[in-house]
Amino acid sequence: MSLLEVRDLSVGVEDADILHGINLNINAGETHVLMGPNGAGKSTLGYALMGNPNYHILSGEICFDGRVINEDTADKRALAGMFLSFQNPLEVPGISLSSFVRNAVSQRNGGKVKYSEFKKDLSSSMEVLSFDKAYKDRDLNVGFSGGEKKKAEILQLLMLRPKLAILDETDSGLDVDAVRTVSKGIEEYKEKVNGALLIITHSTKILEALKVDYTHILVKGRIVKSGDGSLVEEINKNGFEEYI
Ligand code: ADP
Ligand code: MG
Repeated sequence: MSLLEVRDLSVGVEDADILHGINLNINAGETHVLMGPNGAGKSTLGYALMGNPNYHILSGEICFDGRVINEDTADKRALAGMFLSFQNPLEVPGISLSSFVRNAVSQRNGGKVKYSEFKKDLSSSMEVLSFDKAYKDRDLNVGFSGGEKKKAEILQLLMLRPKLAILDETDSGLDVDAVRTVSKGIEEYKEKVNGALLIITHSTKILEALKVDYTHILVKGRIVKSGDGSLVEEINKNGFEEYI
């Protein structure tokens, strides 16, 4: 059984049906890429997998780590080891980056976190991301640049060590160096916990630095093609035109 099994999943938002009959299997240690034009439903799939209450499962099943999780809240899914990094991370005035991450790590570990170990882990994870340590005491994302917000997301990924990470447009708006740094963080996560990845992107920048096992192309709410990593290069050259 795969870590994540999506079976014939259809999803609606408000009155609109967005996703139709999605099938997807992801195993530990695998990197999957979901590509597709704007409005195809990529973010919708991320939100539906993570349990955002605005996205309604119309039919089908999401099975994670051996359990059907259709009815589970987002919190419960996070506790089970799912992680979604947001396309536009929220600013949280009054809560420092460090205390936000510590709270999340503590929840994930059933309340048990040794402060000395947390500090060490936070420090080394920030180093992997070339993240200025002064930022740990700043309010989460408040006044952060686009690149710093993405680093804060990947920092949470490294600290939380989920079984599955869904990264939505983590590369959008980043310059070449920032993409490379974020990719380094993602590689570190994979090595540390044999993590599984679903990387959502409409560009191919981030994929040059990561080893991709499977690629899926989403058009108008349907996966119209799946293949190995070489499909990314094909899309890079020819775009989505032939799939639309
Ligand atoms: P992508 O991430 O591939 O660009 P999205 O999943 O964001 O696509 O959007 C897919 C479709 O769902 C779009 O047509 C979008 O307008 C619609 N949609 C997404 N979220 C909502 C919402 N909250 N209310 C109404 N329509 C939505
Ligand atoms: Mg999107």
